[in-house]
Amino acid sequence: MTVNVIGGGLAGSEAALQIARSGIKVNLYEMRPYKLTEAHKSGLFGEIVCSNSFGSVNLENGRGLLKNEAKALGSILLEVAEICRVPAGKAIAVDRDCFAQKVTNLIKENPFINVIREEVTEIPEGITIIATGPLTSEGLLNYLKDSLGIKDLYFYDALSPVVTFESLNLEKLFFGGRYDQPADYLNAPFTKEEYENFYNALITAERHLPHDFDKKFFEACLPVEEIALRGRDALRFGPLRPKGFSKSYYAVVQLRKENIEGTLYELVGFQTALKYSEQKRVFRLIPGLEKAEFVRFGSIHKNAYIKSSALLNEFLQLKSRPEIFFAGQISGVEGYVEAISTGLFTGINAARLFKGLNPVKMPDETMLGSLIRFIVRNSLETPQPMRANFGIIPERFFKVKKALRKKEFVKASERAIDEFKTRARITPD
Ligand SMILES: Cc1cc2nc3c(=O)[nH]c(=O)nc-3n(C[C@H](O)[C@H](O)[C@H](O)COP(=O)(O)OP(=O)(O)OC[C@H]3O[C@@H](n4cnc5c(N)ncnc54)[C@H](O)[C@@H]3O)c2cc1C
Repeated sequence: MTVNVIGGGLAGSEAALQIARSGIKVNLYEMRPYKLTEAHKSGLFGEIVCSNSFGSVNLENGRGLLKNEAKALGSILLEVAEICRVPAGKAIAVDRDCFAQKVTNLIKENPFINVIREEVTEIPEGITIIATGPLTSEGLLNYLKDSLGIKDLYFYDALSPVVTFESLNLEKLFFGGRYDQPADYLNAPFTKEEYENFYNALITAERHLPHDFDKKFFEACLPVEEIALRGRDALRFGPLRPKGFSKSYYAVVQLRKENIEGTLYELVGFQTALKYSEQKRVFRLIPGLEKAEFVRFGSIHKNAYIKSSALLNEFLQLKSRPEIFFAGQISGVEGYVEAISTGLFTGINAARLFKGLNPVKMPDETMLGSLIRFIVRNSLETPQPMRANFGIIPERFFKVKKALRKKEFVKASERAIDEFKTRARITPD
């Protein structure tokens, strides 16, 4: 007897490793490398497809607190992230190859995990976690629609380009960070004239949009040209803001290290749907990037997720078929740490179910509990995937003075996680 996990991305890898840790056998289905998604490039488990940052470590930041909770609950992928960490100020960023390779080794070497490399188009019998992510294959989406009666929802999201360090002109760029960020970033400052020139090229550049594109972007990840179209100065108040440096500039593009060696840099906030040839032409107008070599272009992609508020309970089980759990982006959460955390949570509960135990609820006084409550209880007609943030914590915390609210919630979360760990503990057979 086994538990099935479908999808070996962030949520699925964490879930499979957690179940295996409880001494239960897992069948982990992954369609790569035989069938790749629009964003993945390898057959590695835990491949991250866009930014290499897992976000802030500050506990008064939603993702920072969520990371803290997931670590306290024993997240295996976050342990790997620490091993593969690259400098990124107050954020955890990873060398993506190191990360995916180490996750893959942990899975391949685990005697409880049986890897099955195939595209799942029908849910297997038994307890199953569906963690097929935003780029779930059409075959499975059709099955979910036709056989489980789930209507898929989707919107569009976009990727930032990556350039080689050696192709950059360091006479025009400088290392440093905004405000108290350490000097891990490369900065490209603009004069007013350079900015105007870049701006005009950006808003008139040609885009490449999917045929069924209907312009439903996620506000937190808008393409750079879409922000620019909102006004001549919109970028100067957004990703190109010139604030927090010791000298004054008209606008500044930041580039963040993409790998440990520092041979690759990503343009921060430059998600884009421009044609590749246009990206080369327009982004080379950024001072210091005149000869930039692009190792990855920005792109735009579809993003599938279910309406969890109608379909799932607080354990992320399908109400109509409680042996089926959803985790990761397809469940309606957004982000790497959110995917890992929901994979961890469903992994714990799938293991409990397998052992004949009741699933355990994640307390509302935690960021993860708040996130789950939000996705399964919101009353929105068309909900958008949600990231961890302090706007979704229980209402009673809004009665606490604003200056103290986050601190109070962090304390409550630490207590609630300890208590959850005791309740969710599985005694080995
Ligand atoms: C292009 C893109 C860029 C993103 N950028 C960021 C970012 O910068 N920062 C951030 O925090 N979040 C980002 N996200 C959102 C999200 O955090 C990531 O997609 C994250 O990887 C989601 O984790 P997951 O486990 O849900 O899905 P994934 O990590 O995508 O894993 C799903 C896995 O399921 C497999 N699969 C799909 N269908 C099947 C099937 N039928 N049978 C078998 N296997 C299947 C896929 O091959 C994949 O390995 C991005 C999403 C996309 C698509």
